[in-house]
Amino acid sequence: WNSTTVRTRFAPSPTGFLHLGSLRTALFNYLWAKKCNGKFIVRLEDTDQKRKVNGSEQSIYDLLQTFGLQWDEGPITGGPFGPYEQSKRLHIYSEYISKLLASGKAYKCYDECSTQSPKTDKNPYVVRFRSEEGPITFVDTVYGKITIKRNTPKVLSDDFVLLKSDGYPTYHFANVVDDHLMGITNVIRGEEWIPSTPKHIQLYKAFHWRPPTYSHIPLLTNPDGSKLSKRQNDAHVTSLLEKGFEPMAILNFLALMGWSSRQKNDVIPLPQLLELFSIDRLTRGSCIVALEKLQFLNKHY
Ligand code: GLU
Repeated sequence: WNSTTVRTRFAPSPTGFLHLGSLRTALFNYLWAKKCNGKFIVRLEDTDQKRKVNGSEQSIYDLLQTFGLQWDEGPITGGPFGPYEQSKRLHIYSEYISKLLASGKAYKCYDECSTQSPKTDKNPYVVRFRSEEGPITFVDTVYGKITIKRNTPKVLSDDFVLLKSDGYPTYHFANVVDDHLMGITNVIRGEEWIPSTPKHIQLYKAFHWRPPTYSHIPLLTNPDGSKLSKRQNDAHVTSLLEKGFEPMAILNFLALMGWSSRQKNDVIPLPQLLELFSIDRLTRGSCIVALEKLQFLNKHY
């Protein structure tokens, strides 16, 4: 692809079923790609074998299609081209792990890094990144310039793991390698990933790669300000569909949260949502999920 083409991605982990927050992230990525005549990529981040929930990936793919958020690319896997799946790309991550080991930016760590255990590859080991001390600065299109000071616990103080002892990469490593290899220009994701971004920036530096443009979007909350939990039934996209809410009403409901558009009460079809959407319109304000609003939109559908 051409380096000026906008490429976005939705990168769900198959650890549960699609909820409103992730559908909103998928929608914004889709809209920005289409608005810019770019490509929308779906990538399943299934490197955490322990947290995998059977059937969740198929359900995520089916729901994206129900909502018209069709991905543009992926390997051919028998049927129509499928989304990328990280568990099928392990050979790629191991190639990039070798590069960091060779450049000294990463190291193998045996048995909690104790010096006693014999260092042979038969013993389980993890590969850790040799972290910088910081500070690390990056610019976010929603939050502006973000600086993480040196030694911020859990963010910049550790030599974080890149490759686990089961041979699978961690989220951080696979995510950065794939965003680079897939030519992702814009990372649009929930703000809970802001603390991970300094790790990602360090990896980009270590490989001499150019980082994407980041847009972290505020999380959805309940009217009382509490976090919308994955366990809440109404947060589940399938349960809303089962209750008779129209996909387009749900998409409009999500578009209105976190994006200032003048048309507040009409249900706008996807092609027109595209015309109205812009990444600069993503707002910082808290995003309260008020189901009465969805009920209202659904009636006007
Ligand atoms: N796999 C992560 C998730 O489940 C993706 C985060 C990101 O977009 O970088 O949300």
